[in-house]
Amino acid sequence: MEIKGKVIAITGASSGIGEATALMLAGMGAKVVLGARREDRLRSLVDRIVTGGGEAVSSVTDVKRPADLNSLIKLAMEEYGRLDVMINNAGISKLSRIDALDVDGWEEMIDVNLKGVLYGIAAALPVFKQQGSGHVINIISTSGIKIVPIQGVYAATKNAVRTISEALRQESNGAYRVTGISPGYIQTELVDGIEDPDLKAAAKERMSSLGISPDAIASAVAFAIGQPSSVDVGDIVVRPAAQD
Ligand code: NDP
Repeated sequence: MEIKGKVIAITGASSGIGEATALMLAGMGAKVVLGARREDRLRSLVDRIVTGGGEAVSSVTDVKRPADLNSLIKLAMEEYGRLDVMINNAGISKLSRIDALDVDGWEEMIDVNLKGVLYGIAAALPVFKQQGSGHVINIISTSGIKIVPIQGVYAATKNAVRTISEALRQESNGAYRVTGISPGYIQTELVDGIEDPDLKAAAKERMSSLGISPDAIASAVAFAIGQPSSVDVGDIVVRPAAQD
């Protein structure tokens, strides 16, 4: 697979899917540039990768702040001289019924899951244009494929990203690649952010009974990156075999 030596930025790298993806790609010889808000987690992940013989750097990144994403890409350029892949993975799930009117939660999800992805694209594209190559990978969700109660606004943010990914792919005219990966239930910290205690307990139960390892998503990311540069992997759905 064409992964060794590639410079890969990952947002939301401090836990779950982002962390697993960083470890897997670094293990395959990629140079990973890691962003998230929790600096201690990023530092220990970088240490783990470097101690294992890999290459990694990190920068505290809040995807709500375009300047932070620009700094993350700048770090990639300063350390490694290029950027091959931008993985927009950071996300939150403030799940609730729409009639619960959690306006703050809606805004937070739109800011992180939708605007955060756009800011990531905005930071990476100038570099991709200059290089004449690059790859945007957006982590979406099966929530946007099978619409169910409680997940409405979360799913809406994810489907907005699906739409943007496809438009970007067409606009790229082959200059860079665009991949959307939609995970189903994956065992991570994602549902810890749900406010309502009953909804949170139900989501945690479902995640622990049904959820699969974040390595399943990391493998899909590696598959998409590892294709020859003329091959664009558009959409991948990876869910537990038992998910309805
Ligand atoms: P985690 O909660 O384990 O990871 C989320 C990551 O996003 C963390 O590293 C967190 O880091 C980061 N993050 C949250 N807010 C921000 C922010 N404002 N700026 C920068 N980073 C931020 O959950 P997952 O690994 O599951 O989530 C990763 C992606 O996968 C998300 O987009 C999620 O929607 C998607 N997904 C997950 C599914 C699942 O079942 N787990 C299913 C479908 C999609 P920090 O707090 O340090 O900033």
